[in-house]
Amino acid sequence: MKYLRSSLCTIFRSWLVVTLLFSSPVFADATITTWEKDKPYQITILHTNDHHGRFWHNDIGEYGLAAQKTVVDEIRAEVEQKGGQLLLLSGGDINTGVPESDALNAEPDFKGMNKIGYDAMAVGNHEFDHDLSVIREQQKWVDFPFLSANIYNKQNGTRVFEPYKIFNKQGIKIAVFGLTTDDTPILASPKNIDGLEFRKTLPEAKKVIAEIKTREKPDVILAVTHMGHYPDGNHGSMAPGDVTLARGLPAGDLDMIVGGHSQNPVCMAKPNQRITHYEPGSPCVPDQQNGTWIVQAHEWGKYVGRADFIFLNGKLTLQNYQLIPINLKKEVDNGNGTKRLEYYTKEIAQNSEMLDLLTPYQEKGQQQLSVVVGKLEGYLEGARDKVRYQQTNMGQMLLAAFIARTNADIGIISGGMIRDSMIEGNITYRDILKVEPFGNSVVYFDLTGKALFDYLQVAVDKKPGAGAYAHFRNVTMTLENGKIVALKVKGQPVQLDKTYRIATLDYLAMGGDGYPKTDTLPTYVNTGYLDADVIKQYIEHNSPIKASDYEPTESIIRR
Ligand SMILES: [Zn+2]
Repeated sequence: MKYLRSSLCTIFRSWLVVTLLFSSPVFADATITTWEKDKPYQITILHTNDHHGRFWHNDIGEYGLAAQKTVVDEIRAEVEQKGGQLLLLSGGDINTGVPESDALNAEPDFKGMNKIGYDAMAVGNHEFDHDLSVIREQQKWVDFPFLSANIYNKQNGTRVFEPYKIFNKQGIKIAVFGLTTDDTPILASPKNIDGLEFRKTLPEAKKVIAEIKTREKPDVILAVTHMGHYPDGNHGSMAPGDVTLARGLPAGDLDMIVGGHSQNPVCMAKPNQRITHYEPGSPCVPDQQNGTWIVQAHEWGKYVGRADFIFLNGKLTLQNYQLIPINLKKEVDNGNGTKRLEYYTKEIAQNSEMLDLLTPYQEKGQQQLSVVVGKLEGYLEGARDKVRYQQTNMGQMLLAAFIARTNADIGIISGGMIRDSMIEGNITYRDILKVEPFGNSVVYFDLTGKALFDYLQVAVDKKPGAGAYAHFRNVTMTLENGKIVALKVKGQPVQLDKTYRIATLDYLAMGGDGYPKTDTLPTYVNTGYLDADVIKQYIEHNSPIKASDYEPTESIIRR
């Protein structure tokens, strides 16, 4: 209790004493456990979540796996010296977010995590930014399991990942099971989850806990989840998160949830209310629901969460909890109009072995991404508050590239698929990946003029402000009361019996953003070319790109 006594402010103290002294009953079977009666055992759980490609520190030296390893190594040594045991867990979403990592399918991230000694991770929705073949490759890079009890193979009803793993620590049997948000099917690209079923988390948790109890008879059950922390269980339109899970299980079934997905520091101001702006380095009281501790360490490896438990006579009691900032910095005013950066807590040295492992990847990633592929004259508009409301020159340039690759008549994508702008000057692969980070493929299909009316009607009905809002190229539509009454392709009136070729990305063709499913049409062709590669080649062939050549022409006339 030292940390809590010394550093938590008095407002929370009485609540804390009550909550921290609460301990969860566990399911010890005297016939198989070997721990000693009346002997306290220390069990420390370290955790991170939503890493999102941050194997390397950012431009001002915050986070990164090299500094994270230093912290974990120190705690590991400290715990071992006291005769305790440690588990290091991740709440998932390792993939996607930094071009250097994305270009390498997060290889440095997984190999770095392995070197730090992770024991298990939850499968997050962003693991499905790749298809299962890439995920299987990533599993080979690590010695720890990707856990998810609720992802099934649709065809044979078997689980796609290991549901749980048992750790035996000094005779104490600890079961860790995994869960993945059942929102994954609407968040992931349809092609990457083809054949997979994401079952509801609470019934699957009950099922796997029953399996674990019967087969393993553990002393302690923990969950690693990627479901989100929604205070007081208010998950809105999202799938239920950790609070709903903890409340829905019989009290005592689950000791702790190491979570992710909502990307918050789960530090409570009072029961059922999270601190909105958590100050790095300040005390953190995790959530507790129905006897289950719920923790989450914000995102990107900004913190390592540390929970020190005492296991005594079959009961687990939390002694200490903290979020350890990994080289997080704040701006401090010098008083003379200038500012400087200071650590919130203290500087953490980067582990040199980890730097040796990661540096070649960082250089490889940077080399691949820093090559100039062409020049831009002017500005291509890709800001979120523009591309989800109106046609922009960025939308037109991207569509021109997809049309050029497919010889299509028209092109269509949604505004949500455009993620950044481009400024005048050199264009690198990194710049392109910022605009198109999702790794979708360029596809095309043919429609008769008649079918084209129906298809475009769905597209034009997508409301401004939504990610689904459509960008069109080579199309002019006349709308009356919202209905398309006249249609031109490349300036020519559409003939109902003629066929027209449409270029888009596989995400939309598979029904993403609520577009008509066109990937089952006999004329559908997936070129297999990545969007960013197609754009790169288009820019190489057409450099310098003049932004003025891509000003949107009037594509929608409303009467
Ligand atoms: Zn997520």
